[in-house]
Amino acid sequence: MDKQEIISELQALLGGDRVQTAPEIIKKASVDYIGFRQYERFDGKDWVPKAVCVVKPRSTEEVSRALAFLNKNRIDTVPRTGGSSVTQSIEPEEGGVILDGSEMNGIISLNEQDMMVTAKCGTPLEYLENYLNERGFTAGHFPQSLPLAHLGGLVATRSIGQFSTLYGGIEDLLVGLEAVLADGGVVRIKNSPRRSVGPDLRHLFIGSEGMLGFITELTVKIFRYTPETRWMHSWAIKGMSAGLDLIREVMVEGYRPALVRLHDAEEVQRLFGGSAPEDYGILLFIAEGPVSITAAIGQAITEIAGRYKTIDLGTKPVESWLKTRNDVCYQMDEPVYYRHGMVADTCEISAPWSEIGKIYEAVRERLPREMPNLVAVGGHSSHSYVQGTNIYFTFGFVVKNGAESVRADYMKVISVIMEETLKRGGSIAHHHGSGKYRTRWMPEEHGSSYTLLRKLKEALDPNRILNKGVLLTD
Ligand SMILES: Cc1cc2nc3c(=O)[nH]c(=O)nc-3n(C[C@H](O)[C@H](O)[C@H](O)COP(=O)(O)OP(=O)(O)OC[C@H]3O[C@@H](n4cnc5c(N)ncnc54)[C@H](O)[C@@H]3O)c2cc1C
Repeated sequence: MDKQEIISELQALLGGDRVQTAPEIIKKASVDYIGFRQYERFDGKDWVPKAVCVVKPRSTEEVSRALAFLNKNRIDTVPRTGGSSVTQSIEPEEGGVILDGSEMNGIISLNEQDMMVTAKCGTPLEYLENYLNERGFTAGHFPQSLPLAHLGGLVATRSIGQFSTLYGGIEDLLVGLEAVLADGGVVRIKNSPRRSVGPDLRHLFIGSEGMLGFITELTVKIFRYTPETRWMHSWAIKGMSAGLDLIREVMVEGYRPALVRLHDAEEVQRLFGGSAPEDYGILLFIAEGPVSITAAIGQAITEIAGRYKTIDLGTKPVESWLKTRNDVCYQMDEPVYYRHGMVADTCEISAPWSEIGKIYEAVRERLPREMPNLVAVGGHSSHSYVQGTNIYFTFGFVVKNGAESVRADYMKVISVIMEETLKRGGSIAHHHGSGKYRTRWMPEEHGSSYTLLRKLKEALDPNRILNKGVLLTD
């Protein structure tokens, strides 16, 4: 089918105003916030594969009609909602179509008795959270991209929020959903507190990155909103390894603060300059819930911190972090460091306690040695479990040769992080997903279970139209 035919057929199916063809709109819908693409755009070299059009359905029925047509004609399709991905996951195939759910937004129902809220896939998370707060509830999901991300994308990427130690990731929050399969069939997974009726089918869509279906509606848990009973505190600690040991003790002893963060000395100088001695990291804790619980958690963490060589920093660093935690979302379009000829970004991995410190040390040792133009590599742990934690590496390098060299240098950093993680049995993506830039490491990540992902793809999207290039190698 040629381009014009695709556009005309989609217009006939959904209405002319639902199919956008202006080059600027297509380009804007095709790019996410991965560091090298952003720099390419800043440098004027903003090439991305060209989609034919952006389709903006208003209802599940319209998604179904569009997908049935795209599938029948084997047209590559990239689902998207908020566009805040950082993994090249919404970049289309040349000649493909972008299926954009951002205009399917709004809250469908709030169920205060059963403590859940149902909303459409394009509902911005920030809108949902404000809506809930006004009624005394919270969704408990606070990714840093709260001002940018929409619900469909948050489920499709298996996202996680800053208060995950208490509320969990989106996999713990999602109760049920509705999705449209590649052939246009609509499926609904009903809302239940727990079921024992076979494999949990929600997980076909959680983290599927748009390659198994298009999520149209979803239901998430809600919780009482009690910011007034929060306990918070921070300590400085020397050495990442001591900080990780302290967090492990908090988790293993059974405490569940909402926020558990450990920034290394590198990040402290950049983010909390002057709050701690030069070679110290900073630990931040917040507990939420009824005051009887937050007070007990606070007392226990204070006791644990006393067993280590920590410096009490009071509440100020946490307060300042709370105020500025999402500011980066408002500077994404042109970060200031670009003007200084630098690229900076992040990459997150996870591993059991026994390995996480070794991965952190290995990456920090290797990168400066192998990349003369590296100017910074640091990291923080921000999501902890009884079995281990994540490290969110932050890095920056000087651009050697304009946009031409940025991608190679960027992927060099990522390769080192992936290799050191896989070598020690860690996982190469804690919450951003594979996208199209981590796919080549997926066979090693999944090992013998990778075949299950291929078989799922064959069963649910046999024509392979949905988001080619994420998760699955060709
Ligand atoms: C500054 C910044 C901070 C961030 N912080 C966090 C963080 O703290 N935690 C975190 O988890 N992530 C974070 N992210 C990453 C990003 O916000 C998340 O991946 C988010 O879940 C993406 O949601 P979105 O609506 O923007 O999805 P999009 O970018 O539109 O899409 C992301 C993926 O989901 C698929 N998808 C989108 N909508 C649908 C749908 N309706 N049905 C099926 N598939 C769909 C797409 O195909 C793509 O693969 C951050 C990003 C930025 C830019």
